[in-house]
Amino acid sequence: MNYEVLLYYKYVPIDQPEAFTQEHLAFCKALGLKGRILIGKEGINGTVSGTPEQTKAYREHMQCDERFHDMVFKSEPAQEHAFKKMKVRYKQEIVNLSLEDDVNPNEQTGKRLSPKDFREAMLQEDVVILDARNTYEYDLGHFKGAIRPDIETFRELPEWIRENFSQYKDKKVLTYCTGGIRCEKFSGFLVKEGFQDVSQLEGGIISYGYDPEVKGDRWDGKCYVFDERISVPVNRTGTETVVGTCYHCGQPEERYVKCGNPECNKHLLLCDACEEAHHRACSTACKHHEHNRYVKEQQKTEPTA
Ligand SMILES: [Zn+2]
Ligand SMILES: [Zn+2]
Repeated sequence: MNYEVLLYYKYVPIDQPEAFTQEHLAFCKALGLKGRILIGKEGINGTVSGTPEQTKAYREHMQCDERFHDMVFKSEPAQEHAFKKMKVRYKQEIVNLSLEDDVNPNEQTGKRLSPKDFREAMLQEDVVILDARNTYEYDLGHFKGAIRPDIETFRELPEWIRENFSQYKDKKVLTYCTGGIRCEKFSGFLVKEGFQDVSQLEGGIISYGYDPEVKGDRWDGKCYVFDERISVPVNRTGTETVVGTCYHCGQPEERYVKCGNPECNKHLLLCDACEEAHHRACSTACKHHEHNRYVKEQQKTEPTA
């Protein structure tokens, strides 16, 4: 293992979060880590990559801070850095749900199920499995039978729930996201909305994939991640499937690109042939946009003879 990627978060009050953000950036840069960390008065949410020595030093430093001493680090091996830069940003919220009436997951949240218990719960009759992520994440991979909210960003989820999901208030609802942080707040929101039986996958999809017992069972496709890797495997039971399909032709495809129109940037699964035919665009308007990136790249690589 040359590199390690750490995923972690904790909802814990942070005094003077802006000053802490500056300090933390300097510390991470000095260690040589790369990644993206969000800090707010409600806590910390980060993904960083580095050599095992660097990530070990980071963990040890954080565990000496009483606010973070029990923070859970999810670890993944990697071939290289998963980020180009080290960014630490101050944010109002460490995941953006933008609720008019915010939820504190330390006071109100769904039941936390271990990967093993979550798998067992999924097999029960009469449960509703709800993906808490965006459509482009779902489309690359998801749990069998999970419901796909039609949303492009997390903050659209509460409204989608109110309009499309209220008939399930009496059912057992199982919700999940990449690393668990979105569900902490989102499952609290569901409880507040009057859902009777809400559970969340502790540690998210990433922990589920590494659990030695469940090995990612009942996961189809891959898991979208917000770094240079774009996707990571989850199902390690030997029954791995591809669920992603090319946006234009429908062939199995797991490669994400952003629409060639820099003003659109929609996430698209695209095969090579369709990327070329459609100039990496989602629509005719984006294909012919004057700043289409695909067209510009092609012009650059064309021989000038
Ligand atoms: Zn295609
Ligand atoms: Zn587009």
